[in-house]
Amino acid sequence: MFKGSYEFVDIALLEQLEQRLEEREEKVGKIVFKVCRRCGIRKPILQFTTDKRNTNGRASICKKCKIIEYLKYYYANRENVLLTNKRYRDNHKRDRTKYFQDYQKDHKEHLQKIAAIWYKKNRRRIKKRNLKLKANLK
Ligand SMILES: [Zn+2]
Repeated sequence: MFKGSYEFVDIALLEQLEQRLEEREEKVGKIVFKVCRRCGIRKPILQFTTDKRNTNGRASICKKCKIIEYLKYYYANRENVLLTNKRYRDNHKRDRTKYFQDYQKDHKEHLQKIAAIWYKKNRRRIKKRNLKLKANLK
């Protein structure tokens, strides 16, 4: 339903990580898993955002549920959210430009990798669009 950066996550790798965490929990006896209060699913603690107000330092609902909650809020208050975001962008233009330039410099390889994956996925659509553009130019 939600497409995002986790499209690039290797599911097998995640399962492996979960397995290792489970083993560690048995060994150390420390909290590595937590049950989400919203969806009721037991998940690795890394899938909960940090929250200092909680005794175990993590939020009570998982990241996925938090995203869903935010999207619900977003669609209920869309105009307000967009206005607030625009106001922030306008007030922080210079900081944002600097941030993005630095980010591009520091994450060159990662960005190239993602762009290559995106291109592979959308190659057909891009070619189709380019053909259409060419036809329109004639
Ligand atoms: Zn959840």
